[in-house]
Amino acid sequence: MEHPQDWTEPGAHQVAPGVYRIPLPLPHDGLRAVNVYAIETGADLALVDGGWALDESRQRLESALRSIGRTVSDIGRFLVTHVHRDHYTQAVAIRREFGSKVSLGIGEKPALEAISEAVRTGENPQLPLLRKAGAEPLVAWLEQLGSSDIPDLSNWEPPDEWLTEDSMLAVPGREIQAVPTPGHTQGHVVFTDLSNGLLFAGDHVLPHITPSIGFEMVPAEQPLGDFLNSLARVRAMPDLRLLPAHGPVTDSTHARVDQLVAHHDERLAQCRAVVESGRDTAYRAAEELPWTRRRRRFADLDVFNQFLAVTETMAHLELLAARGELRRETHDGVRRYTAAGG
Ligand SMILES: [Zn+2]
Repeated sequence: MEHPQDWTEPGAHQVAPGVYRIPLPLPHDGLRAVNVYAIETGADLALVDGGWALDESRQRLESALRSIGRTVSDIGRFLVTHVHRDHYTQAVAIRREFGSKVSLGIGEKPALEAISEAVRTGENPQLPLLRKAGAEPLVAWLEQLGSSDIPDLSNWEPPDEWLTEDSMLAVPGREIQAVPTPGHTQGHVVFTDLSNGLLFAGDHVLPHITPSIGFEMVPAEQPLGDFLNSLARVRAMPDLRLLPAHGPVTDSTHARVDQLVAHHDERLAQCRAVVESGRDTAYRAAEELPWTRRRRRFADLDVFNQFLAVTETMAHLELLAARGELRRETHDGVRRYTAAGG
């Protein structure tokens, strides 16, 4: 079993019999790397997640597979946890060359459709959400970016197979099951291999960071509520070895789920307190909250991370409103929050 000094170190690291963790690079990204997992199925390989379609990532994948006597053409299928580019796009690129089968959660269908629509119209579908959050400075930033930031559609072609509730996957020699875990994205799925005690967790449960909530092409009504329900779902399974998409493999999924739940309880209390102190929109509340483990100020975050901070805050405020712990009203298209008793 591995003892990762640095979990981003290139290679194919065996984490269970016939299962290898392969970290692939994410240039210019605070997450540093994304793990894909190669599963030996006898004849070929199944990969959980594909990485981001970039030359450097492809080269890293090829040399990692070579070290276990495999090549990219041996990848029979990709089981993709969610539609984000660091997980999905390289699976599509490799399918184009070798015909590997790509599977993705059915809940990602609206996001894929929204991406095509955005490319067609040049309209960013996330603008309405930022307006509701009262985030005019970020709206102005996105509008000025215009269509230049709209992704290359060819990387987001539809999958071969949509995974539905509890699809059992025909992976020879293993019983791998897809379990929907909406939250980080609406169509996020994790994959269990119960007979080997493994959870391929994607971004649902990460060992060192909390996944972003509410940052989506098509926002859910209650992304945080969905996420907490999905954490409860994983907590109700046996305690499995955690194979995350970012960070090292750890022994207990349950231990990390408990920490994530505690984190969001604390954030909910902080969000409620800043609203009660008079910050009445998601944007104004986000400005007041500490960010990241280093407790950075909102004003010191780059614009993209401010964007994530605002959608994350909105997700917390919406859950507090749904629970009756805050009151929410909409004025001129902006959601305003006040103390429940006020
Ligand atoms: Zn990710």
